Amino acid sequence: MQDCMKRAKKESTLNEDTPRDILIRFMEEQNMRKTPERYAILDVIAQMKGHHSADEILSMMPESFHVSRGTIYSTLALLVECGLIYNHQIAGATLYEYAYGHPLHQHYICTGCNKIWDLQDSTIELAASKVKTPRFKKMRCSTYIYGICNVCQAKLARLKKKMAKEQEKNMTREEKRFAKIDEELAKAADWFK
Ligand SMILES: [Zn+2]
Ligand SMILES: [Zn+2]
Repeated sequence: MQDCMKRAKKESTLNEDTPRDILIRFMEEQNMRKTPERYAILDVIAQMKGHHSADEILSMMPESFHVSRGTIYSTLALLVECGLIYNHQIAGATLYEYAYGHPLHQHYICTGCNKIWDLQDSTIELAASKVKTPRFKKMRCSTYIYGICNVCQAKLARLKKKMAKEQEKNMTREEKRFAKIDEELAKAADWFK
């Protein structure tokens, strides 16, 4: 009931730019062609939950609507520029998330499986607001906390048992990667408790 009221209130707010209004205005200012593909990509992103790669967004496009990988990349760059989506660099890949009505927030990332979660914690922004940056005006703060999720912690515990028995030369690439994560965790234990 409350949600319905909130939504009704939001819809009745006058002069509020829709995502499409923002995109149209930006394309007009830049003298860009207003193609239906760009609107279709925005529509898909508006329905999207979480953080996704360009290829994942491409796979979400309706089958009847053929969009090339090049169009996806150029439209994503355009949507980042006009502030409708955020981009994140995670383990060498770029992930995108819808920004409209979703204020800038912080994230934590698993170094084992590269999953990313939203983090709403005002203490990070508060700490950043107090940090002194001489002759530099702060605008925003973006924090990524790296660690290891509970699924990967269980996996690491299993691998450690196996690694204790086996020679390093017999370790798989993934086992070696997790052994490195374990070393990092041990180092971090002193200052992240
Ligand atoms: Zn994980
Ligand atoms: Zn996020």
